[in-house]
Amino acid sequence: MRLSRFFLPVLKETPAEAQIVSHRLMLRAGMMRQEAAGIYAWLPLGLRVLKNIEKIVREEMDRAGGVELLMPTLQLADLWRESGRYDDYGAEMLRITDRHEREMLYGPTNEEMITEIFRASVRSYKDLPKNLYHIQWKFRDEQRPRFGVMRGREFLMKDAYSFDVDEAAGKATYNRMFTAYLRIYGRMGLKAIPMRAETGPIGGDLSHEFIVLADTGESAVFCDKAVLELPIPPADIDYDADLTPIIEQWTAPYAATEDVHDAARFESETPPDRRITTRGIEVGQVFFFGDKYSKPMRAVVTGADGVERPAQMGSYGVGVSRLVGAIIEASHDEAGIIWPDEVAPFGVGVVNLRPSDVDVNAACDQAYNALTAAGKSPLMDDSDERPGAKFAVMDLIGLPWQLVIGPKGLKDGVVELKRRATGERQTLPLADALKALGA
Ligand code: ATP
Ligand code: MG
Repeated sequence: MRLSRFFLPVLKETPAEAQIVSHRLMLRAGMMRQEAAGIYAWLPLGLRVLKNIEKIVREEMDRAGGVELLMPTLQLADLWRESGRYDDYGAEMLRITDRHEREMLYGPTNEEMITEIFRASVRSYKDLPKNLYHIQWKFRDEQRPRFGVMRGREFLMKDAYSFDVDEAAGKATYNRMFTAYLRIYGRMGLKAIPMRAETGPIGGDLSHEFIVLADTGESAVFCDKAVLELPIPPADIDYDADLTPIIEQWTAPYAATEDVHDAARFESETPPDRRITTRGIEVGQVFFFGDKYSKPMRAVVTGADGVERPAQMGSYGVGVSRLVGAIIEASHDEAGIIWPDEVAPFGVGVVNLRPSDVDVNAACDQAYNALTAAGKSPLMDDSDERPGAKFAVMDLIGLPWQLVIGPKGLKDGVVELKRRATGERQTLPLADALKALGA
């Protein structure tokens, strides 16, 4: 992409309404724009990050046995009356009436709808297990939308729903999702800590929240430092194997949010030098809730013994749009965002220091074409801005690499390659720089 054709409305001033760094940087970098309280337009730069996060989530869900579908954002109120949640959900639910006076709602979550889809076609234990997911916008009329995309009213969530024949199989699926979540966040460059959690309106009694440590997080959290050093399960992990050892390893060190924190246990289990007391951002949550929905909604399957029983269910959410903010909270400096490689909106920023110079242009085009052909998705700054302004924008938008090409260097046959995360610079021939970038 050439910057001259792209749409990157960066802001010079820091927006006064933004209280936390990720919100400020997303606005300044032209990633999104607020259209109403807690409702955002995703501008091209932000959308590219959102799509990269979606891609990681999709790949890891598919690997772990998930099957993608897409449910609508609007749902019938009657469906929620079947589970009894229509009245329980309260003011967070956006209720809508259509032209026929039919009561509808903008889905805050999809347990009811997926249960309805499941029961319409699945009858036998032979068709299980099933783990269905979608990546779809949700609406929750939050009392206090704030911190940009971190607590929006409209937000993008990956939500998966599992159906198993009995509790043991349901818990094995829960373990698969738990393991997949470790990989999802790990690939995004995040250390997300699974913490035992309350289940809230989703229900059930087995649940973990995945929490990224950050001073600006909304919940107070307490954990053992040991959890930060645990290994992320590898890509070739066997999801058909017993995953209990991984779950035990990750849940052995103390880790809890304030809702379920037990100070006495924390102190007895964790040596003082390993105790971390800080704040955290919830980037996902997994639940096992058995027959909470399948029983009232009669989603039953016939077992091997010929007896009908409600399917055993779980649900698994990832805050896809919140993650954009959470990654920035975890990875930035004074100059701007530092994108981890896998989520970066572009792989390399090519900075043309003098677009009026024929040789510089030729070298930039050569680099741009080679990087494009190698799938490195370059963003080339071909604008007439002065160099200082170009460097500031590159640092602000945080692409992993910057390839700086100017007349002075070219005369000596060299360009400059900068790694955004470390600030490390190398001066080298263009061909070597391209090789270092994998092009
Ligand atoms: P919270 O406690 O932050 O309100 P929740 O526990 O109600 O979230 P879940 O039902 O567990 O949310 O939803 C799954 C994920 O969706 C959460 O872990 C979070 O990452 C994300 N999420 C929830 N509410 C919002 C929101 N208002 N804005 C952005 N992301 C959200
Ligand atoms: Mg939650």
